[in-house]
Amino acid sequence: MNNYDYIVIGGGSGGIASANRAAMHGANVLLIEGNRLGGTCVNVGCVPKKVMWQASVMRENMRLDSQGYGFDVQTTFDFPTLVANRDAYIKRLNGLYAQGLASNGVEVVTGYAQFVSEHVVEVNGQMYEGTHILVATGGKSIFPELPGAEYGDDSDSFFAWDTLPEKVAIVGAGYIALELAGVLNGLGVETHLFYRYAQPLRSFDSDIVTELLSIYEEEGIHLHPESHIQQIEKTATGSLVLSTQKETLEIDRLIWAIGRQPNIEMLGLEKAGVKLDERGYIHVDQYQNTSQSGIYAIGDVIGKIELTPVAIAAGRRLSERLFNGQTDLYLDYDNVPTVIFTHPPIATIGLSEEDALEQFGQEQVKVYRSQFNPMLYALQDRKIKSTMKLICVGPEEKIVGLHGIGVGVDEMLQGFAVAIKMGATKADFDNTVAIHPTGAEEFVTMR
Ligand code: FAD
Ligand code: NDP
Repeated sequence: MNNYDYIVIGGGSGGIASANRAAMHGANVLLIEGNRLGGTCVNVGCVPKKVMWQASVMRENMRLDSQGYGFDVQTTFDFPTLVANRDAYIKRLNGLYAQGLASNGVEVVTGYAQFVSEHVVEVNGQMYEGTHILVATGGKSIFPELPGAEYGDDSDSFFAWDTLPEKVAIVGAGYIALELAGVLNGLGVETHLFYRYAQPLRSFDSDIVTELLSIYEEEGIHLHPESHIQQIEKTATGSLVLSTQKETLEIDRLIWAIGRQPNIEMLGLEKAGVKLDERGYIHVDQYQNTSQSGIYAIGDVIGKIELTPVAIAAGRRLSERLFNGQTDLYLDYDNVPTVIFTHPPIATIGLSEEDALEQFGQEQVKVYRSQFNPMLYALQDRKIKSTMKLICVGPEEKIVGLHGIGVGVDEMLQGFAVAIKMGATKADFDNTVAIHPTGAEEFVTMR
């Protein structure tokens, strides 16, 4: 049996980052990946999504925004070219990950791992022993249990489409549903979004979500709130008929985006004595320790904050702790900035207005809000407003939440997140001279 200091199960965002960092500190590392290196983010997540988002924004800008600037752009769009170029880019990234691991001396085995005991895993009939073992196996889509659910796609199979349908229904209310709705609408597909409550993205600042919904409606997305899907039927021509409690709709394709679940069923966690939490995710403490000594978990499989940089940060900190003597190092999961790549994007960090009011009470909370037309839209009739908010608390007006929707907010957030992580107050923002003319200056000029 081969022995390692560190065995990492799962070659996605978190696993690769942790394996590389451990190897850089001299550990003898084995990484086991059953599919393509890079995991969800690179192959069927952030990367192909952002490429599609950019294609969609490009089409919107050319078709709807360029005339005012004097251009007469005739757009033809070849979806297969976009898909081929996107997939070639991903293939290059897969290769770069393999090269990076090799140059750090991480051994890579292809196959699915399962625990045999707390220190031994089996892959393709071969046993591997590790002093430390990391589970970084990520997650996968949830499909509903209702008649005809199997006719729908999820985000994975969406990225395998080789033609663009004319009419699509998306079911869900989270990041993926709202992002894909914007992408498809921007690419000219008739897009219907079905969600269960009055608003989607219920954990986000509802003011910002209201702005998004009004923009989506203006841009032609068909919103179907308070809809409960009852069944999907396939017609003789291959189209689908979706039924809710109040309507039926014929569409070419349907995408389920109703959430994700941890990838754990093949792992044999019971053989290693690793316990799950009440939601079915791997239970860990703040140091990413599972219930079994020597076994750790990070990323989507713990279901805490399912973002690539979170998995990477947790994985690197864990390796610093285990292999570089930084025994107290752990990831602080507070104030993690995030962007939803809607059209336009939403950027957010900290508490929503609702959460701040609930946590601190009306007396303590002061909200600053600004709405304006970005200069991108100065020369044409199409105006897509930007909305920005600061949520401040206490007499010192500490900023506990920053939210924005509008062109460019995705690229604005990172710097503001540093300030907020450092404990910035409204006075600190006021003391910072604006950069003009930008959208970002609104964050430091709010009254
Ligand atoms: P993954 O990246 O999922 O990696 C897990 C790996 O483990 C997989 O490669 C899998 O094949 C492998 N595996 C599973 N079981 C085994 C086993 N038994 N043996 C061996 N290997 C195994 N996050 C962002 O920050 N920004 C975005 O814009 C963004 N967009 C997204 C868009 C979509 C459509 C989706 C689905 C997700 C998106 N995310 C985004 C989330 C992000 O992709 C995940 O948070 C991130 O990939 C989690 O990393 P991970 O290492 O935990 O797991
Ligand atoms: P989310 O958990 O974000 O959202 C899924 C939502 O779907 C639920 O919140 C729920 O909302 C709704 N839902 C649940 N069950 C049903 C059902 N049976 N029928 C209809 N609707 C249902 O999941 P996603 O799959 O969108 O994304 C998973 C995670 O991946 C995200 O949370 C995020 O962390 C990450 N991600 C990040 C991205 C980024 O950084 N830009 C992009 C994409 C994903 P409700 O209760 O309101 O109905």
